[in-house]
Amino acid sequence: MSKSDILSLTRDELRERFLESGLQPYRADQVFQWLYRKGVSSFEDMTNLPRDLRSSLADVYSLEAPLSLVTTRQSSDGSVKLAFHTHDGLPVESVLIPASTRTRRKLTLCVSTQSGCAMGCVFCATARIGLRRSLTPAEIVAQITESLRFIATEEGTRFRPEDNLTERWITNLVFMGMGEPLHNFRGTTTALRILMDTHGLGFSSRRITVSTVGLVPKIREFGRLFPRVGLAVSLNAPTDALRDRLMPVNRTYNLRQLKKALREYPLPPRRRITIEYVLFRGINDSMKHARQLLDWIKGLRVKINVIPYNPDFDPITVDGVTLEPPAPEEREKFANYLREHDVTVLERRSFGSDIGAACGQLSARELRNGEITVVTDPEP
Ligand code: SF4
Repeated sequence: MSKSDILSLTRDELRERFLESGLQPYRADQVFQWLYRKGVSSFEDMTNLPRDLRSSLADVYSLEAPLSLVTTRQSSDGSVKLAFHTHDGLPVESVLIPASTRTRRKLTLCVSTQSGCAMGCVFCATARIGLRRSLTPAEIVAQITESLRFIATEEGTRFRPEDNLTERWITNLVFMGMGEPLHNFRGTTTALRILMDTHGLGFSSRRITVSTVGLVPKIREFGRLFPRVGLAVSLNAPTDALRDRLMPVNRTYNLRQLKKALREYPLPPRRRITIEYVLFRGINDSMKHARQLLDWIKGLRVKINVIPYNPDFDPITVDGVTLEPPAPEEREKFANYLREHDVTVLERRSFGSDIGAACGQLSARELRNGEITVVTDPEP
């Protein structure tokens, strides 16, 4: 009989299983603390459990590290891309983004929920490799624990995951890496339950944002389950005609359906949905587009992240136009127009573009043409 992956179970699931096998549920709490507070890698190390329980757990559950770190690349802007492989050799990438260039601590971690992606956004390098598979909850959570281990090594301290609770090395988690989080609904939601568990890593829902391209039924389901987790929607176009061309998902769930789902989203008081709008020169960055965007967000509680496009290593063309970021003054004009109409606009800097870690660049080099190669770090 194959063993269950204990790292893909929530504490409630573990408690249920323990109950079914005649064990006290508090034993599951103890195991959970060993896994996520102490970061042990064997049942034998769980020293407050009876010896026979440790060995019976090892018979039933596997506790293998879900990911192995293959390479890291440091950007000149301080962000770090961590490239992992799953057991079956698929690439998974995360990016650590500093809150400021002054400190190596206080980082935002951008995690992946799938290896590759099925959504086919035309501006995205990850889309061109297609979906390899959805990640397990353990593979999603491991991106956080392995990143904490990496930070501890960099800081020259002994790895103790619980330090994150007191010192908050990773202050924010964003599910915006490879893949569409709501297309891997079970993996994403189970990982969130594990990450937010107070017996584990104890991330506050306020510090987590999950991004979607607009899978309307899943947005509704997600809102019912996790109304306090931040929701970001990657919009990028204010009309169906344009969005159909940039993001195929719009042909299934158009802007009217998306807006309805966002209007009905059970947002807690004072919280807003983030609208991500990547600017492409000559495609979606004119004043006409700004006016259309303003019109579309009417009646929604949102803030807008305006992000200049990060060109991929290979140029991408849409309708014969090569994708490029707008000039800084055009970007300002676009953002200012929205601000003048009382919209909260954040002009997000793009991190990691020199290391293939910016939005839509993840694993692009590694998986081109369906080939998977281990990348050795070319940087000094
Ligand atoms: S932008 Fe996101 S959802 Fe769209 S193809 Fe790329 S990874 Fe997938």
